[in-house]
Amino acid sequence: MMTVKNLTVFYENAIAINKISIDVRQDEIIGVIGPNSAGKTTLMNTISGLLLDTQLKEERRGGVRITIFGKIEYENEDITGLWPDKRVRKGICLCRERHPVFSESDVEENLAIAAHLSSKKEKKENLSLVYEIFPKLLTMRKRKAGLMSGGEQQMLAIGIALMAKPRLLLLDEPLLGLSPNIQVQLVDAILKIKKEMTMTMVIAEQFARPLIPIIDRGYIIENGMLAFGGDKESLYNNPDVRKAYFGVDYDEE
Ligand code: ATP
Repeated sequence: MMTVKNLTVFYENAIAINKISIDVRQDEIIGVIGPNSAGKTTLMNTISGLLLDTQLKEERRGGVRITIFGKIEYENEDITGLWPDKRVRKGICLCRERHPVFSESDVEENLAIAAHLSSKKEKKENLSLVYEIFPKLLTMRKRKAGLMSGGEQQMLAIGIALMAKPRLLLLDEPLLGLSPNIQVQLVDAILKIKKEMTMTMVIAEQFARPLIPIIDRGYIIENGMLAFGGDKESLYNNPDVRKAYFGVDYDEE
């Protein structure tokens, strides 16, 4: 469905992503795992096209020079130069790390804003799907987003992305800073999304452990480079990966 080929991103002369190649097949859930500053957000922003927008803004204000090399193909089309709004129309949606919701608007207003590309009928259908996946949002539909907890806001942020009914959903650190209990709820919701909306997903996270039950394959990124890639069994059975990203020693068990 999507292939990233030799993607390289520089912020000025500092390399953030170094010749990364990944491929994502239809209906898969792919994990992109790596520590702080590994380049996960840069990768997600490049796939969604957001980095092109940042590049232009930085250029206009004489800020950081961003250089992008490599290629992104989506459904056999080269989308490397395509603007983020065009990618959304093709079904690629990004839910950013600590996604900003409209804090003065209530839950339903936030979801409605995200449905501006849909017909009335689609909007209604998507809204009930989002409430089915996150029943908590239904009980809070008139609550101002700014008055929700971090975990609830994260559910809303994913709900907002779902309103566009993406075909490829990119989730950047959806579990970041959430309690284990809320993490479990979100992981369950992600599985439900896959089942009920038949969606392909790429999920970036620092730790693999909460993701392992749901991913099909994963890539480990370190210092902007691909350190390891494979199915979840090979990730789990690799002693270095286990130690660094699962919080368990190889001898444990
Ligand atoms: P985190 O989990 O901390 O968000 P990450 O894996 O998502 O980390 P990135 O945010 O992609 O990593 O950052 C990769 C590198 O690029 C870091 O060294 C970071 O400082 C640098 N970087 C990211 N955005 C910019 C920017 N706009 N200008 C300059 N450098 C940047």
